[in-house]
Amino acid sequence: MPLKINPRVSGMQCIRCQIIHPLEDYFEGCPSCLDSGIPASVAPHFSEWPSSLDHNTVSNWLSYPTSGLGEGNTQLSSLPLLAAALGVGELYTKNEFTNPTGSHKDRMGALIAQRALDVGIRTIAVASSGNAGVSMAAYAARSGLECVVVTTPDMSPNWRRAIEAHGARIVATETSDDRWKLIARKARCGEWYPATNYTIPPVGSNPFGVDGYRAIALELYLEFQEQQPTDILVPTARGDLIWGIAKGYSDLQRAGLLRSVPRVHAIEPCPRIAHAIAGHGMVGSFPDDTNMVSIGGNTVTQQTLHALELTDGLAVAVDDGEVAADQAVLGREGLYLELSSVATLTGLRRLAKNGEIGRNARVILIATSHGYKEEARFESPLTASAAGVDDSLASF
Ligand SMILES: [Zn+2]
Repeated sequence: MPLKINPRVSGMQCIRCQIIHPLEDYFEGCPSCLDSGIPASVAPHFSEWPSSLDHNTVSNWLSYPTSGLGEGNTQLSSLPLLAAALGVGELYTKNEFTNPTGSHKDRMGALIAQRALDVGIRTIAVASSGNAGVSMAAYAARSGLECVVVTTPDMSPNWRRAIEAHGARIVATETSDDRWKLIARKARCGEWYPATNYTIPPVGSNPFGVDGYRAIALELYLEFQEQQPTDILVPTARGDLIWGIAKGYSDLQRAGLLRSVPRVHAIEPCPRIAHAIAGHGMVGSFPDDTNMVSIGGNTVTQQTLHALELTDGLAVAVDDGEVAADQAVLGREGLYLELSSVATLTGLRRLAKNGEIGRNARVILIATSHGYKEEARFESPLTASAAGVDDSLASF
């Protein structure tokens, strides 16, 4: 039996114009803003907040209960040596790679599967070449639903194997934009329930899925109590994650549990957000050959801009070379993260250097996924020789 929507949700509110629309799906964002040419996401509107918040009741604050694969309540790793080296007070990673399919996307997949069950559409569609595809495939399987992952022919075999293991169908289109066109056609006729955006300019992913990211803010709030983080650094492409975290904190403030919210900063592989803030539009032409594949792409969304505005956050662009070096730095701390996650450390270096983040800061890096799923690019082959390690072998 599907679990029904949280009775506290009374409608869907536009994140831009604030209009509260009836409680339905708005895959293309707020109808009023779409008409005015500035597409913006909607979000579940809560008419009241639950009377309590603890680690066991976080899902009472979400639009749907989670589905029991064990997502959420991810742990923190403290990095005191790195904090000292960077000149910041305290530094932690929030380990989203410990979710069931190894990334933050599980928080979204869990809620989207519940929503699809609730509205009675049996096939979920997701445009993805990575973490989102695997996650949605897993949660659809868990919920007894079909899943179609629409991708491009260059999908990594690592992803393909995992998606097929969950019983999902993979459909390859020629270009990245063709994926969205296919999902748009099938979603508009009610055949597929879309997990992802399919419009250009884009809005965020499915609003019920994005709602799941608010839990990260709620968990951090519970963990840090009276001494909340000052800065949270988030790998950002179209901004589902950064918006969810910013909104979660904003909701805590509106519920009277917090006086002020942390600054939430967007880390990206090229200056797309700065381009949009400067008035050059939400879609640009940027190099798409970054190794930070989870945060690639050419587009910016209103939800990213609102997250930065709401929290006084900054946008920071980092480059592949610096991020590759920082992957090894975190590796020496025991954390092997995907390059898109590592980008937050590189972004922190930049913000610490220019004085935006200092010795009184308590900083969280959102570690979205581990590094194992990324395709390795080795410059030299591994040799089978044991030469040079004979002394250490002898100690066995
Ligand atoms: Zn609107």
